[in-house]
Amino acid sequence: YDYLVKSHLKGASLGRAVRYTLGRARARGGEWDSPMFRLAQQQFLKASQYMNLDDNIRQRLLFPQRAQMVTFPFLRDDRSQVETVFGYRVQHVLTMGPTKGGIRYHQDVDLGEVAALAMWMTWKCALMRLPFGGAKGGVRVDPTTLSKSELQRLTRRYTTEIIDMIGPDKDIPAPDLGTDEQVMAWLMDTYSQQVGHTVPTVVTGKPVVLGGSLGRKEATGRGLVYLIEASAAHLGLELAGATAVVQGFGNVGSHAARFLADLGVRIIGVGDASTSLYRREGLPVAALLDHVAEHRVLAGYHEAETIDSGELLELDCDILVLAALQNQVTVENAAQISCRLLAEGANGPTMLEADEMLHERGIFVLPDILGNAGGVTVSYFEWVQGMQNFTWTLDEINERLKATLLDAFQRTLARAQAERIDMRTAALIEGVSRVTEAKLLRGVFP
Ligand code: GLU
Repeated sequence: YDYLVKSHLKGASLGRAVRYTLGRARARGGEWDSPMFRLAQQQFLKASQYMNLDDNIRQRLLFPQRAQMVTFPFLRDDRSQVETVFGYRVQHVLTMGPTKGGIRYHQDVDLGEVAALAMWMTWKCALMRLPFGGAKGGVRVDPTTLSKSELQRLTRRYTTEIIDMIGPDKDIPAPDLGTDEQVMAWLMDTYSQQVGHTVPTVVTGKPVVLGGSLGRKEATGRGLVYLIEASAAHLGLELAGATAVVQGFGNVGSHAARFLADLGVRIIGVGDASTSLYRREGLPVAALLDHVAEHRVLAGYHEAETIDSGELLELDCDILVLAALQNQVTVENAAQISCRLLAEGANGPTMLEADEMLHERGIFVLPDILGNAGGVTVSYFEWVQGMQNFTWTLDEINERLKATLLDAFQRTLARAQAERIDMRTAALIEGVSRVTEAKLLRGVFP
């Protein structure tokens, strides 16, 4: 019964210090298996061991409850060929209420990645005390190669394929990497056409005119900066004049950079898939935003030194914001990360061993399920406003967002300090405990 995670998670390279027993849980997952899903499982198993989790619950939470895999035909604008596209929707835990989570369009998406993201959504929603379980969707496509009409056709067909899984009381999608307000508008329209009337609450992250919430678009970046402020206060770090590096300049990174700059933080490095920029005296965030609004990417901005993406992460700074993709801080570069505070806006940017290394080096990590929870929190506000047919002001939304995030931050920090564990493990325990309690109360059917 006392298996090591190492022997059961194929290909996992766990260091000496990080072997967690699986009990009788079996983590081997065939079709789910992927580096990201293994990371999500390992983090969960690590947390479960600190909390002496019931073995039945541990086994139950190790895999998603439902998953749908679809393939569908997709016609390019020139009608030259019909491509077969892969799509996914995974619901990890249905115990807490409807499931919730974004939809990702990216060329590398697979079932394991979507499953990992769904599991993280479960812990994130539970940590924030939102009445949702976790879900995620994905389509394996490079959205930067699609015209607007191609994007619309792809979205409508994907929505049609997963339509039985979603609904305002069932599973509520939202934007993620590669999707935006417009994609959510098409999703909402497609669903509404099918049921015969307009259903704004089937999706969050919609345009405001269609029932979206004020403040949703920038909520993840804004929330991350509220949490950076709280972390800085805890660390005794003065933000005015502090330095930050921001990896990723999409919906999360660009807003985070803007809000940090508003607090007087000097943004000395930024990067996206196209390039990385560096300027020790600080980069003008407003000019970068204008450049990206016009050219879509950072490349082509000439008022800074260009560096490579690896160097960007290793720049000496106070705050490193990871707001791009998963798997960025690994055993290879964790020793070179040179910041006091690492703030995760992306999902899964830090690998398990790297996490241990950062913890040993005393780097304070704002883990993804806390750091980027502002997005799903305002999604919840959007869903509630839709259900009530009543809208809140931007001030009300930002106040409630801040209060919700800071409450979760304080609970996580208190637990991390009391139990002498890292912030990620503490945040996971907060989430996993709540789900466990709910599962035990609901019992086993039949
Ligand atoms: N995709 C975002 C996340 O990873 C937001 C999900 C949502 O708003 O439902 O948390």
